[in-house]
Amino acid sequence: MKLYNLKDKNEIVNFSQAVKLGLGKKQGLFFPMQLPSFSKNTLTKLLKMNFIERSSKILNYFIGDEIKFSILDEKIKKAFNFTKPKIVSVTNNIACLELFHGPTLAFKDFGARFMSQILLHLNKENKKITILTATSGDTGAAVAHAFYRMKNVKVIILYPKGKISELQEKLFCTLGNNIITIAINGSFDECQSLVKKAFNDEELKKVTGLNSANSINISRLLAQICYYFEAFALLSEEKRKQLVISIPCGNFGNLTAGLLAKSIGLPIKSFIASTNINDTVPRFLLNGKWEPKKTISTISNAMDISQPNNWPRAEELFKRKKWNLKRLGFGSVSEKLTKKTIIELSNIGYISEPHAAIAYRLLKDQIKKDEFGLFLGTAHPAKFKNTVENIINKKINLPKELEKIKNIPLLSYNMKPDFKKLRMFLLEK
Ligand SMILES: *Cc1c(COP(=O)(O)O)cnc(C)c1O
Repeated sequence: MKLYNLKDKNEIVNFSQAVKLGLGKKQGLFFPMQLPSFSKNTLTKLLKMNFIERSSKILNYFIGDEIKFSILDEKIKKAFNFTKPKIVSVTNNIACLELFHGPTLAFKDFGARFMSQILLHLNKENKKITILTATSGDTGAAVAHAFYRMKNVKVIILYPKGKISELQEKLFCTLGNNIITIAINGSFDECQSLVKKAFNDEELKKVTGLNSANSINISRLLAQICYYFEAFALLSEEKRKQLVISIPCGNFGNLTAGLLAKSIGLPIKSFIASTNINDTVPRFLLNGKWEPKKTISTISNAMDISQPNNWPRAEELFKRKKWNLKRLGFGSVSEKLTKKTIIELSNIGYISEPHAAIAYRLLKDQIKKDEFGLFLGTAHPAKFKNTVENIINKKINLPKELEKIKNIPLLSYNMKPDFKKLRMFLLEK
């Protein structure tokens, strides 16, 4: 598999290099040079396979002979070793694609677990690796669990103190072993900027074997293509015909994966890019101007991003396929309307959380007669227990993953957003 750098088309790398590097020169994103294209016949065969078998086949089409099929298949089995995505009906023409039945109860388990398997496979000389990442909530837990207890790997996760939910924090700050967590006295953007500085520090990078694990890594994106095929396979012929998918967007990786699935032959009719009030992309789609504003904190905290990392990949795909960007659905939902929608959903018997509720709202308002709509359930509502309970005025149960950890003390270090301090910490640890 060959990929090019979106900021420097002369930089061409293979899959292994792209996974290890994360980003290319000038912080450019890698994008596949060739996209597979499935015939109707192949698609029919793929849709009849089970989730694991089909996922291995799809990723093999992308990655090619750089990783042997048997090895890839084994990695996928290990990565996706949890409850499959589910479709739960919500109204007569809308259902939720629940992607939150993994070990950390968010869709990020798919990408993070596949990436950890691939990195482990590529680290043939068993070099020491330090994974450094910043999280606005769910990435931290997914990455921590994906690399937990792996030999020669140390994981360091920065997060904004007090800006993620209590249970989100418990999920990754109680593990210990090779997982080190640091609560930064600042915003998510400050955490991300510390990580960027670390990656620009050549000496630090060498000494610690620094590797990134954020959502721009191509392995995470490819893994996410697989559940769009699974969703399609789970639907009846009738519902497949006019399928609209609404996606709660933050860094726009999930949407890009869905567009990639469509681009290689999965006949999804259209997508809706749904955001909260951090609406850089919806405003761009409306007036063609890219004008990020200061990030505002909301209850859908994983979407509090005003400079979405993966958007250039989505745009590139539109260009490559000669699709019209005007046909992409979009919209943003205020905090007040998000809360109202969670209540509306609860009244029809579906308990949801802020991220999925935003996607549902825009789908419900934009879906046409004869269409069938899926909105993505990106996190388990119990991860936002306090918020959701306060809004719907009802108690919600904790799944066993959260019940187990809710009373374990946090092991996090505290730090000011000061790169010198972080640098020293990384060198000592
Ligand atoms: C990360 C996350 C998102 C945003 O996904 P992107 O791929 O970054 O657009 C949405 N909802 C939840 C719950 C998340 O954790």
